[in-house]
Amino acid sequence: MGLEMADGTILTPNSTGADVDAGAGGGFNVKINGNENLTLIVMDSKTVINDYRIKTTRKYSPGLVSSGETLAHEMLGHGLTRHDENNRYTQWVNAIRLSNLYLRVASDGTKYRDGSSHSGHGGVPGNPDQMNKIPEYLND
Ligand SMILES: [Zn+2]
Repeated sequence: MGLEMADGTILTPNSTGADVDAGAGGGFNVKINGNENLTLIVMDSKTVINDYRIKTTRKYSPGLVSSGETLAHEMLGHGLTRHDENNRYTQWVNAIRLSNLYLRVASDGTKYRDGSSHSGHGGVPGNPDQMNKIPEYLND
């Protein structure tokens, strides 16, 4: 038995980085063994992310995700949100907000994700103004 990735395939001990990339789009974070987290990051993802938009025009601009953005998205977006013991926050929203926070500080800041192709979860509310806020847990 293994972990099911976003596309429904099962992660096994023999899975490769390419398998994780194909199954989860660059990486994933899951809660295991109670309150522990497992995060896998593919350092050279070849998966095209379809919900990047150009800030000024709001037109879609699909592209590859960097390992830095995936790390921020998975560990600080999904992972940190999971550790709120009162479940006050929406991890799917926070993960996209973390991607966008990362893009603002670590790139030229011209692109953001609207979350509409956030894998495995049917997308998150795609209001660009909502997705460019800071993560909910940083407001406390
Ligand atoms: Zn995610």
